[in-house]
Amino acid sequence: MHHFQYSGPTLHCESVELAAVAKLYGTPTYVYSAATMADNYTRLARGLAGLDVQLCFAMKANSNIAVLRHFANLGAGFDLVSGGEIRRVLAAGANVRSSVFAGVGKSEAEIRLALENGIFAFHVESEPELARINHVAGTLGVKAPIAIRINPDVDAHTHAKITTGKSGNKFGIPLKHAAAAYEAAAKYPHIAIKGVQMHIGSQLTSVAPFVEAVEKVAPFAAELKAKYGITYFSIGGGMGIVYKDALASGEQAWWDAQPIEQRPLTPETYGAALVPLLQPLGLKILLEHGRFMVGNAGVLLSRVEHLKRGAGKNFLIVDAAMNDLVRPAMYDSYHEIVPLHRDSSRRALVADIVGPICESGDCFAKDRQIQEVGEGELVAFMSAGAYGYSMANRYNTRPMAAEVLVKGSTFELINARETFEQMIAGEKIPAFLK
Ligand SMILES: *Cc1c(COP(=O)(O)O)cnc(C)c1O
Repeated sequence: MHHFQYSGPTLHCESVELAAVAKLYGTPTYVYSAATMADNYTRLARGLAGLDVQLCFAMKANSNIAVLRHFANLGAGFDLVSGGEIRRVLAAGANVRSSVFAGVGKSEAEIRLALENGIFAFHVESEPELARINHVAGTLGVKAPIAIRINPDVDAHTHAKITTGKSGNKFGIPLKHAAAAYEAAAKYPHIAIKGVQMHIGSQLTSVAPFVEAVEKVAPFAAELKAKYGITYFSIGGGMGIVYKDALASGEQAWWDAQPIEQRPLTPETYGAALVPLLQPLGLKILLEHGRFMVGNAGVLLSRVEHLKRGAGKNFLIVDAAMNDLVRPAMYDSYHEIVPLHRDSSRRALVADIVGPICESGDCFAKDRQIQEVGEGELVAFMSAGAYGYSMANRYNTRPMAAEVLVKGSTFELINARETFEQMIAGEKIPAFLK
């Protein structure tokens, strides 16, 4: 469920008409719904009622400091993956103490920054990393809290670039080597064993891989509790969202109309399957969802540049491009694209919807049917709240887009569109070329 819907002919985010946002701040612009994020947080917490849960929002999905502050206010910590993300949490006025630090290549400087700010735990991916964390903690005279990431060798049935829990992935330590890794960790003087972790992939649309992974790792978690007194089990993130039918999925009626066995994963289904498996462990459960928390809470607004009619092929050229929203080019992913002004008297158009970048890969949708829209009219890319702005770049010297947060009938700019001067601020002509 989300808070994007047509009210009369015009698309709204909560009570704000999206065309008004585009008029004020231009395009391309990301717009996020605070109420949708709060609903996602609350539903996940309720779905897992009965467990002692700490939600660590995987901030790589959307790391705007206003979004972080919103989640911190709701009670979330963060799953962070770099020193830059630690500094974002601090800039948001939020707490690193309920956050965890993941990733396969943490630098010494990043480890130090995390320790100095009281990180809840490091999620360790290898034995050399343990040695490095121990070393840095030693120089600071502290013990570093850690959990080791287990690779449960489960097929998440998702896109190859976002599956992480198979034995061929770079992530985690196989279950059969995990006991030895914990024994090694226990010998380090500056390491404190606190938990165990796993994360099997992203955009999972069925609960079965989660169940399989928890069933594999839970007995080991119980052993670790008995042996080292661990206090938590992080089951990672990865819950998928609806990309096709994104707009309709804002309504309960749409969910009710889906056959049970084809219904996308909900926090209720997720909780119902996992709570009985996790409750007997008596451990705190950490969740690290990113996409689910923000994916359906954001859209990317874009303006039509041209409708180019070709022989047997139409191209709808919009002012957003693969640098603003890279998911279709990178993961072949689908985003629903809808007009901000719906007009049933218009004909349907079938077109490739593309950006202005000089690459054939700059294509958002092939042979997509959409209401006919022309130059200057506005469209929204649905479900763009996760891995949208956070993966954006400046390819073709296109500035980073603006970001806006809506709450009820108010909205505010939370990130101004980048200027040309900001884009080239770090560049200079060397003396030998002058
Ligand atoms: C990316 C990531 C997540 C979040 O994944 P989503 O699919 O966005 O929920 C959680 N944990 C770890 C370790 C990750 O790398």
